[in-house]
Amino acid sequence: MTEKLLTTDVLVIGGGLAGERCAIEAAAAGHDVVILSLVPPRRSHSCAAQGGMQAALANCVKADGDNSTVHFLDTVRGSDWGADQEVANIFAEEAIVAVREMAHFGVPWSRVKGGKNKYFIKGDEVEIEEALENDGLIMHRDFGGTAKWRACYAAAGTGHAALYAVDSEVVRLGITVRDRTEAVALIHDGSRCLGAVVRCLRTGEHFAMMAKATVIATGGYGRIYGQYTSNATINEGTGASIALDTGIVPLGNMEAVQFHPTTLSPSGILVTEGCRGDGGYLLDKNLDRFMVELEPKKQELASRDVVSRHMAQVMRDGNGVDSPYGPHLWLDIRHLGEEHLRTKLLEVWDICRDFVGINPAEKLIPVRPTQHYSMGGIRVNKDGQAYGLAGLFAVGEAACWDMHGFNRLGGNSLSETIVTGRVVGRRAAEYASGTELRSNTGFAFDMLAAAEEKAANWLARSGSGPNVYEIRDRMGETMMHKVGIFRTGDELAEAVAELAQMLDDCDDAVLRCTDPGLNPELAFALRLKGMLRLAMTVAKGAQARTESRGAHFRTDFPLRNDRDWLSRTLVRWAEKDSAPTFDYEPTGLIDLPPGYRGYGADERIEMTDSLEQYNASVLEDQARHGRLPTAEDMGSRLRRGAWQDIVG
Ligand SMILES: Cc1cc2nc3c(=O)[nH]c(=O)nc-3n(C[C@H](O)[C@H](O)[C@H](O)COP(=O)(O)OP(=O)(O)OC[C@H]3O[C@@H](n4cnc5c(N)ncnc54)[C@H](O)[C@@H]3O)c2cc1C
Repeated sequence: MTEKLLTTDVLVIGGGLAGERCAIEAAAAGHDVVILSLVPPRRSHSCAAQGGMQAALANCVKADGDNSTVHFLDTVRGSDWGADQEVANIFAEEAIVAVREMAHFGVPWSRVKGGKNKYFIKGDEVEIEEALENDGLIMHRDFGGTAKWRACYAAAGTGHAALYAVDSEVVRLGITVRDRTEAVALIHDGSRCLGAVVRCLRTGEHFAMMAKATVIATGGYGRIYGQYTSNATINEGTGASIALDTGIVPLGNMEAVQFHPTTLSPSGILVTEGCRGDGGYLLDKNLDRFMVELEPKKQELASRDVVSRHMAQVMRDGNGVDSPYGPHLWLDIRHLGEEHLRTKLLEVWDICRDFVGINPAEKLIPVRPTQHYSMGGIRVNKDGQAYGLAGLFAVGEAACWDMHGFNRLGGNSLSETIVTGRVVGRRAAEYASGTELRSNTGFAFDMLAAAEEKAANWLARSGSGPNVYEIRDRMGETMMHKVGIFRTGDELAEAVAELAQMLDDCDDAVLRCTDPGLNPELAFALRLKGMLRLAMTVAKGAQARTESRGAHFRTDFPLRNDRDWLSRTLVRWAEKDSAPTFDYEPTGLIDLPPGYRGYGADERIEMTDSLEQYNASVLEDQARHGRLPTAEDMGSRLRRGAWQDIVG
């Protein structure tokens, strides 16, 4: 072993909630585990999560009757039937344990207060008496698209509390964390992943990190939307990008991009759905509550795709509030009162004060929808194992596991991180136990040399040429305005052409800073083509999908089409190839038949196959598309027909 070649049992790329929870599981199984992160783990994007995480604990009156089946139903409906239903069930069942376990790790959950409590529901103040025997249990708040109050929360700092607790466990277990270290390529032999080539962001030095099992937990890729995102600046999708580069591992449903209804205008900083869950509402420029008329049943608490579309349409119709930064709408939480805001929504209080200079107990909050969440990602089977490459796993927002389909419900992502951390961490540990790290190190050294050459090439460019940040900004404009909330074939074609031009421009781009070590411009330049390639898979995927489903809305194909599009997009794009190839697999075994979501449009093109016909070929088809065998039989975690007890 040279100092350029390091080894471990389980390599976890990403120190957010998903990566750290996964690392804990693998370390608890006795493995040597290394976590890589661009930043110290506690600064990972998970820390910014606010409103809560969903788990059907049924601890308060408005959660009465909740259970994992109701959670499953909400999740599949929320996904607009794009989710893998077996995965949605595994998730709903395991979230109950995973969330309780977080209390043991030290999360200070907001708790039920026994006796009389005042809540705001659909704009009205109501008094509800919580059972005294429930006093002190984990409390829930309402969130969009759910039948029950289910989101467990720690004020509006749920991600902060959870990440600090999980990170403390990582420290306690003595897991090695290499922060400011970036995985820049996967090491593989065509059928098995053997670790990653990594780059130290402080020195610029590259080395090979070989591992029996490698887990990608790099979060979302919101920054391909430039400034139009609620995501942290580090959410540049490098994990998805290095998986795509292999040409073997497909990304799933890249066109499924979530826009969150309420981000601060103009900064894009999130104002949690918990505000609407706790009784806040949206107003147009005339101070009308437009959601009451547009979605009489769920109002502000329809799913995010539906609320964002209504908001965008209200602004298109000229009912937005004009501002130098474009139109916005108002979020009104004044009636919740200062005490509520300074306890249950404390972080929102702080954000309003610090970023728009207002007291939300007195003033309206300017909001508009912005890119927020990546439903698409590295396509994995129910064990979290990537299609096509043994030994590679993915968890959290980086993965397409796929419980969110075409729309994620608020609060389902934080719980996904800790559920997949547990489930996939265990599977990665089992895989590592059953394999040896015996391989030709030539693969690793070849890939190491290629990565070093790439960085050297950037540094060697001289003269004039486009600036990498200018290309990034153009990418953001194209993505937001042509691959945004409303999509059309013509605009998507324009976006594809513009992104192709930007990819060409990358080859002529030059750096202003040519320091080989601590050089953020070089680090960004090395990611830029990958980001553009991800953006291209989103735009082309959206262009090809001639229907509307969840967050993917085509004004030229406005109906959900279960006859032709009950499928998941798979895209592969080897680094050496000039264009991606698209393919489609069935969404998974279907238990809950496609139907009306309970909000949004109630019109669609029905499937013509029977469920039996559809399900008959699912497993074979998915295996043909690269799905690797799972520890338990496919379908074994579906509780067929259990939903009928709820729906009747
Ligand atoms: C503002 C905001 C609020 C949110 N609130 C909620 C909420 O209330 N409830 C909810 O359910 N969801 C919420 N979400 C979504 C949720 O927070 C995220 O989906 C989730 O935290 C993602 O966790 P993760 O572990 O997958 O990724 P992240 O937390 O993004 O972590 C990614 C990690 O990967 C590392 N990394 C990235 N690339 C590399 C690389 N190439 N090499 C090495 N390391 C790398 C990063 O350093 C980081 O450690 C919110 C999202 C936002 C934007």
